[in-house]
Amino acid sequence: MAAVMSAGTLNRNRQRLMGPAEPRALRMQYICFLEKDGPIREVWLLECARPVEGRECGHRYIIYRSQFRQRKCPNCQAGRPGIKIYGS
Ligand SMILES: [Zn+2]
Repeated sequence: MAAVMSAGTLNRNRQRLMGPAEPRALRMQYICFLEKDGPIREVWLLECARPVEGRECGHRYIIYRSQFRQRKCPNCQAGRPGIKIYGS
């Protein structure tokens, strides 16, 4: 099955795909980090859509695209932290 990954797609842990992380919006340190570990196009911004105390958690973090299907929220599901943006 070919998975269509469009903005708004939820994974089974209710983590919502927001779209590609925009390289131009990122700091130089971060771009250097990505070039060492993987292509920039493989990086995505997620937002947590799980209900926490009556509203969405809303935690935003950056992952490698290949992690999307199983990703859990670092804030409310004890998922691993997102990719670090150095200097922020
Ligand atoms: Zn969350």
